[in-house]
Amino acid sequence: MNTQEYIQLEEKFGAHNYHPLDVVITRGDGVWVYDVEGKKYLDCLSAYSAVNQGHVHPKILAALVEQAGKITLTSRAFRNDQLPLLYKELSDLTGYGMSLPMNSGAEAVETALKIARKWAYQVKKIPRHQAEIITCAGNFHGRTITTISFSTEPLYRDDFGPFTPGFVTVPYGDADAIANAITPNTAAVLLEPIQGEGGVIIPPTGYLKKVAELCKKNNVLFIADEIQTGLGRTGKLFAAQHESVRPDVTVVGKALAGGFYPVSAVLADKEILGLFAPGEHGSTFGGNPLAAAVARAALNVIVEEHLVERAAELGEYFVEQLAEISSPHVKEVRGRGLLIGVELKKEAGGARRFCEALQAKGILAKETHEHVIRFAPPLVIDKATIDWALPSIREVLNYHGV
Ligand SMILES: *Cc1c(COP(=O)(O)O)cnc(C)c1O
Repeated sequence: MNTQEYIQLEEKFGAHNYHPLDVVITRGDGVWVYDVEGKKYLDCLSAYSAVNQGHVHPKILAALVEQAGKITLTSRAFRNDQLPLLYKELSDLTGYGMSLPMNSGAEAVETALKIARKWAYQVKKIPRHQAEIITCAGNFHGRTITTISFSTEPLYRDDFGPFTPGFVTVPYGDADAIANAITPNTAAVLLEPIQGEGGVIIPPTGYLKKVAELCKKNNVLFIADEIQTGLGRTGKLFAAQHESVRPDVTVVGKALAGGFYPVSAVLADKEILGLFAPGEHGSTFGGNPLAAAVARAALNVIVEEHLVERAAELGEYFVEQLAEISSPHVKEVRGRGLLIGVELKKEAGGARRFCEALQAKGILAKETHEHVIRFAPPLVIDKATIDWALPSIREVLNYHGV
């Protein structure tokens, strides 16, 4: 079958909840993917940072195959011999005393919200079912009813209410707004250290530190959603570390399993995560031995291949080079590590057509929030590959008649 035939099948039989670029990928290797026509592309999205380790990483593949031949699912009704090792290795790597494994990112966010509420009633002694959680405008925390309940994007919400109560939304990047929103019933502040889906929005320097101080002073939990920014993407293990902040709760997903498997987790210390009692929360697939083995290998690759340091070094270079491109269409280039956004001027007519022009040149990037092109290649990328991509990016950004 050719590209058009695959697209027709998908359009006819699949729900249209995405608007993908018209490229049908059949194979991947490191930073490269190949379409069904045999054309090769540099992947500059990395599945929204789920593939930080590069496509089909051989060590993660080996762990997956080996574990798949042994045991894949026991349910948490029984114990398995992979999950305890994942717990220990996650704790050693992140410094959090405990973790709770789930599958998708949205589920892990919901898990963090549940534990924050329980903490509010059991520890902070907020009257039951009165807890408030502060979130930020422009956020992206997933697509479940609760996570869209505090979205500020009309497209995500308009036809999907009624919504989960108990959330307050304030402008992102404004610590005073959080200070003003805190009440005696505030259980937690939930935010992304950099808003990825919001358009690679980097808050003002000092923001995360101020939020952490406010939370501490008011006995409020600081929950960082690092599903996209965590595990090396921004040049630190966690993006909050750019301001030496250690949130009370950190949520991870995406790259936790290197793109092989959906694995997410909530990280916190025992005083918080230890509050869950048997039966209060769970997931049939969460913490299964296949997921745990894959996640262990994926974490190991991040450490062994120094992906955090690579992201810092190559990200700095990539941003510098992008910033030097003089294009009439570009409003701003911003980034931290290898999470980079090129914001186009409104008059440029939207980022999508630039992404389509990049696709024609063998570079896959995706527009986010209409006017931003995100460049977030796998962290295994090297300087030579960035140098290969730059002339094409330069040409596309300067293209007037796209
Ligand atoms: C992707 C993402 C999520 C949702 O993860 P899913 O696995 O798609 O449910 C939540 N928060 C952030 C910051 C994300 O980037």
